[in-house]
Amino acid sequence: MKLGQKPATIAEINRETDFYKKQSPELSDLFDLYRSLFAVELSYLPKIKPKVKKPKEEKANKSIDEGDHLLDTKSIYVKSDLFRVVISDICAIIEEKSPEFKKVLDAFLSHADLNPKNKKETPPFIENLQAFKTEYFTKLAEAISLNAEVLFFIAYHAISPFVEKASFVFRDSFDYSRWERSICPICGRKPAMAMLSKENGLRILQCSLCRSWWSYPRLKCVVCGNDNDETLEYFYAREDEAHRVNVCNKCKKYIKTTDARELDRDINLEVEDLATFYLDVVAKERGYTSAGRITFATRIE
Ligand SMILES: [Zn+2]
Ligand SMILES: [Zn+2]
Repeated sequence: MKLGQKPATIAEINRETDFYKKQSPELSDLFDLYRSLFAVELSYLPKIKPKVKKPKEEKANKSIDEGDHLLDTKSIYVKSDLFRVVISDICAIIEEKSPEFKKVLDAFLSHADLNPKNKKETPPFIENLQAFKTEYFTKLAEAISLNAEVLFFIAYHAISPFVEKASFVFRDSFDYSRWERSICPICGRKPAMAMLSKENGLRILQCSLCRSWWSYPRLKCVVCGNDNDETLEYFYAREDEAHRVNVCNKCKKYIKTTDARELDRDINLEVEDLATFYLDVVAKERGYTSAGRITFATRIE
C-alpha cells in the first residue's frame, strides 16, 4: 500500500489558515506566526540537499517488517551555512512578534556552538540537534538565559525542513500496510495529529518532525499500543464532529483527530492541529497528556 502524500504548499496553508481565522479570530496571531514559519521552511526546501539515498523497495520493506524506521536523522547532510540562515530567519520571526527576545536571540545566533572557530567542524548545536539530545538544549538554554521551550521551538523548526526534505526520498518507497508502530516509519519521531481519510476512512498519522504520513489501526493507542476498546475512547467539543480527541485510559495519553469525511474541503493537518487548540485544553483538563508534540508548546523529545 502506498499513500501518495503530496507536500503542503503556501496556497494550501493560506487557504486553510484564512478559513480558521474567520472561525476563530482569537487565534489569528498564532496562524500568522505559523504562516511566517511555514513560508521560511518552504522557501529553503529547494536549497536543501540532504544527500540520502532512496532504498530499494525490498530492503526498505525488510526494515519496515523489523520495525526499524528508514532514516537516521544523524545521517542527513546539514550544511552549516544554510542552517545558520534558516535559524536566523526563524529567530527574526520570533523577534518581530516578541521584541523582548531580541537581545538574547542575537546573542544566541553568535554563540560559539553555532559558529565554531574551526569552519570545518560541524557546529555542536547542529550535531546535538540531529541526535535530539534534550539535555544539551536544556543546558544551553540555561547558559544563554533563554526559556528552554523557546529554544526547543526554534531548534525544532530549524531542523524540520532538512528532515522533511530527506523524508521525500523515502515516502512511498515501502509498503505502508507492513508498518505497525506508532512512530514515523521514516524519521522515527512521534505523531503530531491524526486524520481519518476521506477516501477510505483509514487512520493516518502525521509526523511531528518530517510531516510524513503513515497508517495506523483505528482502535489502538498511539503511545502504549493498547487495543482494548474498553479503555479507548474519544470525545468532541463545540459540537464539532469533524474534530475529536482519542484518549487511552491505560496510559492517559491523547491524540487529536480530524475526520476528513465530515469536511467538504481538503485539509492540512498542521493547520488542523493549531485550529483545534481548544481540544488540547479540554484533554488536559480531563487529565490526559499529549501523545506527541503540541504545536507551539514544543518539546524536543
Ligand atoms: Zn518523520
Ligand atoms: Zn495508551
